[in-house]
Amino acid sequence: MKEKSLVRRLFTILICAILTLAVSLLPGVSLRAEGGETLMIGVPKDRCPIFYSDASTNEITGIGVDLMRAAAEEAGYRAEFCIIEEANLKDALDNPEYDVILPFGSAIESTSGQSSIVSENLIQTPFTLVTTGNRNLPSFNNLKVGMLKSLSGAADTVHELYPGIEIKMYETMPECVKALRKGEVDALLHNSYVWSYVLQKPSYSDLKVQPSQMFSMDFRAGTTDTPEGKEIISRLDRGIVALSDTRKQAVILDHTSRKLYQYTISDYLYEYGALLLLIALLFIALVIIAIQRSYTVRKEQEEKMQEMIDHDPLTGVLSMSGFRKRVEILLHEHPDIPYLLAFVNIKNFKYINDSFGRDAGDDLLKFWAEKTMETLSEEEAMCRIGADRFAVLRRLGGDEKLINDDENVVESVRNYFIDRGKDNRVQICGGVYVLTSEDYKNADVDHMLDFARVTEKRVRETRSDGYEFYNPEQWERGKQIANVVNYLHTAMKSGDIRVWYQPQVDYETGKITGAEALCRWKHANLNWISPADFIPTLEEAGLIYDLDSFVWERVCQDLHRWNEAGIKRCVSVNVSRCDVNKERDIAEIFRKLVQTYKLTPDQLSIEITETAFAENAEMLFSATEKLREYGFKVEMDDFGSGYSSLHMLKEVSVDRIKLDLRFLTDAGDQKKGHIIIGYMVRMIHSLGMEIITEGVETAEQADFLLAEGSPEMQGYYFYRPMPVEEFDVLSENWKKTE
Ligand code: C2E
Ligand code: MG
Ligand code: MG
Repeated sequence: MKEKSLVRRLFTILICAILTLAVSLLPGVSLRAEGGETLMIGVPKDRCPIFYSDASTNEITGIGVDLMRAAAEEAGYRAEFCIIEEANLKDALDNPEYDVILPFGSAIESTSGQSSIVSENLIQTPFTLVTTGNRNLPSFNNLKVGMLKSLSGAADTVHELYPGIEIKMYETMPECVKALRKGEVDALLHNSYVWSYVLQKPSYSDLKVQPSQMFSMDFRAGTTDTPEGKEIISRLDRGIVALSDTRKQAVILDHTSRKLYQYTISDYLYEYGALLLLIALLFIALVIIAIQRSYTVRKEQEEKMQEMIDHDPLTGVLSMSGFRKRVEILLHEHPDIPYLLAFVNIKNFKYINDSFGRDAGDDLLKFWAEKTMETLSEEEAMCRIGADRFAVLRRLGGDEKLINDDENVVESVRNYFIDRGKDNRVQICGGVYVLTSEDYKNADVDHMLDFARVTEKRVRETRSDGYEFYNPEQWERGKQIANVVNYLHTAMKSGDIRVWYQPQVDYETGKITGAEALCRWKHANLNWISPADFIPTLEEAGLIYDLDSFVWERVCQDLHRWNEAGIKRCVSVNVSRCDVNKERDIAEIFRKLVQTYKLTPDQLSIEITETAFAENAEMLFSATEKLREYGFKVEMDDFGSGYSSLHMLKEVSVDRIKLDLRFLTDAGDQKKGHIIIGYMVRMIHSLGMEIITEGVETAEQADFLLAEGSPEMQGYYFYRPMPVEEFDVLSENWKKTE
């Protein structure tokens, strides 16, 4: 009985074993072993969608992974995947940590020479060529193809299939694309599934798949050809065979339909670069506008503040600080205008305020400011220093101007209340300071105002009303010079205006070579007045030509006289910038003069100051040209005084340059001044022009100029300007020495 039951049990076990084997051999029937052995499978990375890491779980996944996992499970394994760290499959084969490796097209030899075995084909993977634009590719056997280094196994298979193909390997996909664009290869070869991912990159939009050039490769698992390897592969084969096509297609569809491509910053830049640039520019423009706006607002506020500081709120005229600035500017811009500075004060202002109220006092101040402003020109200024005190910078005129001011402004202020039916005469006290040449060099407004203030105080303390001058002699002098306009013609006729001569010498030979004619005005009270004092006034009044033509004629008369006496001399005459204008042809005027006095044109040198050339270039250039055509010598006077000296040298052709030593050595480093003069001399000579230096006051200066090759000189060291009588005597002496 016991024996019978044992045989029955053994039979049952046998039947079960046979059934299990039968089921395992049937396709589609799972051999799944719950909690089976773990199979370590090495896969390459970055070959999306075949192998990639899932963005959310960070796990290795992909078509290859899912298919392999299914096959392994079918074979009773628990599949675990890891990334192959080696550069290629051949190297990876030598690493015993991987049980199997994916993907192989066929069996290959490992780097160390071990042979491998491969599994059944998991899927047929299509390989496609990609190239730029519509390139016509040669046949596969003559192609130059670029591939990733990690595909070296596949490359070997391709080589076997197409022995004529040339394959170049690159580290990364961007390097592959670069090589393709540079023409190093005809096309790139990769798995079609990978292309479907890679070509989503916006900057690869020029790459096109070549559908005609396609072939497929096997996708197998591989390992070294060892007994264990063989065992794994044979088990895996069974799992692979167990996978149905539908299941494989489902895995492929699952991964190819996912939105796997992740845009990188460079992709966004490529795709939306122009838009981003536009937005950035817009943003920058907005920032700039905002900064500018805030700057303008700040500037406007500052200007408003400054305006408030610089102006008196009651009367609207300048405040003391505004006046200081304005006076400094005026004196700097108009060194030729003679000015006076008046400090004026209402003596009985307290009484006015007490009797008629503060408003009435304010109205009086406003009236005064208004009246004064009506008489002032652009070059004059007024301020309210405070309370009832005003200061005025006024152009110096003659007595007439003072009387006018007194009648039009001061008198109407005096009668302000009387004219409004109230019995009060406003008492005004003033002190006047006449500016000296020093005040123009150093415009210290407070200092000048102090003089006027002291004088006003004296008036206030000694008289009920009126004004006095702080420096009456200066006033007399200024007044007389201002009056030159009225006396010019009388002075010319009476002989008060004369021509003096300053000899010019050749320091090398010691001989007098010519002279400059300089006018002098002998004033009844002021003795000899220098032309520098009155010429600006005459120029302004439009009378300079009257003076100059008088001087030129006198010079021609003297030259004629010397010619008659057998001394042929050359004289330089000054031409004012105002003499040259549209209506006046000065070349013609000089031509007539030499004709009248039977002179030769080379006896006259026409001096035109350098700054005049800069101011009125066109007219002076043509006048110069014409004068030279007629045979007159033209000289550029005061060379070195302006800011455009060198520029002028280039622009205009003159016969002689008159360097003014005073401008060139006045301030700054004397040594440097000398170096500059040395270079100037050489430069002027190189330009084919003659040089004369004026303002030579010492033997050292003369020696230096001679050493520099410029012997023609004029200056106090040799002779001062002298009346014609003295010059005649000198002329006589030349005659004797010649
Ligand atoms: P400018 O034409 O440059 O004349 C030279 C000035 O330098 C003269 O001054 C002369 O006396 C002075 N000078 C000459 N050698 C020396 C020196 O060694 N040291 C110093 N410190 N000064 C020296 P002046 O006669 O007072 O004439 C001043 C300016 O007035 C002249 O400068 C010229 O531009 C102008 N000027 C003189 N006469 C006339 C004229 O008849 N018509 C015109 N339009 N301007 C004239
Ligand atoms: Mg001159
Ligand atoms: Mg000069």
